Amino acid sequence: MTTDMPYAEVIGDPIAHSKSPLIHKFWLERLTIEADYRACRVTPSELPGYIEQRSADPAWRGCNVTIPHKIAMLDLVDDPGGVREKIGAMNTIVRQKDGSLIGTNTDAAGFLAPIADGDWSGKHALVIGAGGAARAVLFALKQAGIGKITMVARSGLKATGLLMQASIKGSVLPMDARLPEADLLINASPLGMTGQPALEIDLDPLPSDALVYDLVYAPLETKLLRAAKKRDLAVVDGLDMLIGQAALAFELFFGTTPPMEQDAELRKLLVAR
Ligand code: NAP
Repeated sequence: MTTDMPYAEVIGDPIAHSKSPLIHKFWLERLTIEADYRACRVTPSELPGYIEQRSADPAWRGCNVTIPHKIAMLDLVDDPGGVREKIGAMNTIVRQKDGSLIGTNTDAAGFLAPIADGDWSGKHALVIGAGGAARAVLFALKQAGIGKITMVARSGLKATGLLMQASIKGSVLPMDARLPEADLLINASPLGMTGQPALEIDLDPLPSDALVYDLVYAPLETKLLRAAKKRDLAVVDGLDMLIGQAALAFELFFGTTPPMEQDAELRKLLVAR
């Protein structure tokens, strides 16, 4: 497909559930930018062909990348920022004027933004899950000076590999282990997402000033967040990260910052869909 109007996309398989088109179109409309943002289903076998075809299209500004392509993308585009070594997953591809493609990761900064006011230096975090999102979370927490991370994962091997890659002091627990005391708990697994089993964990070991952060954004209030609120713990839901990572990508695609002062309205729209 070649069009004159600039456009960006989100690609993945499946992709119909993605809220990215809603977010980017909201900002494009508010800024009266004549451009489009679409969801495009791309299967793993189609990925190399998709990249080759889009890199030849000057109207294509780039794409956001979701499951299952975040790691495969590392081998298909340029990596001037060293994302492979630092995080090991790409979620944003930007086309340069000469047709070359640069990959980056906006999940890490998007994750950190809602908790950036906190002092995480030397603190203990629990991270549930050891996939693409967990990679970005570990990188961000390292940047924030975290002292120690306990990974809770069904694959101990994967979790240990992530801790080693991020060079963070920590340990790994199985999913059914009793949680240790910690300052921050992050769900970076799909558990609790619509269509997935709930995340069944006992929050009792967390102190009263702990923060619980669920990356899941559909539904917005997961069983985990409900349990945390019941204990009066501070909570962050997945929409803040979703909007934060999208804002960084938007700037890379369309060369201007989105109107973040309209976040409250955007959140309402996203919750309603
Ligand atoms: P992913 O790469 O597929 O990784 C998922 C991780 O969760 C893997 O470690 C997987 O274990 C584990 N897992 C899956 N099902 C499990 C189960 N039933 N029991 C225990 N562990 C299980 O996915 P991802 O990209 O990291 O995404 C994870 C979640 O974060 C999703 O809900 C996604 O929507 C959310 N997310 C949100 C944002 C945001 O902006 N809010 C951004 C990125 C991701 P194995 O390693 O053993 O397969």
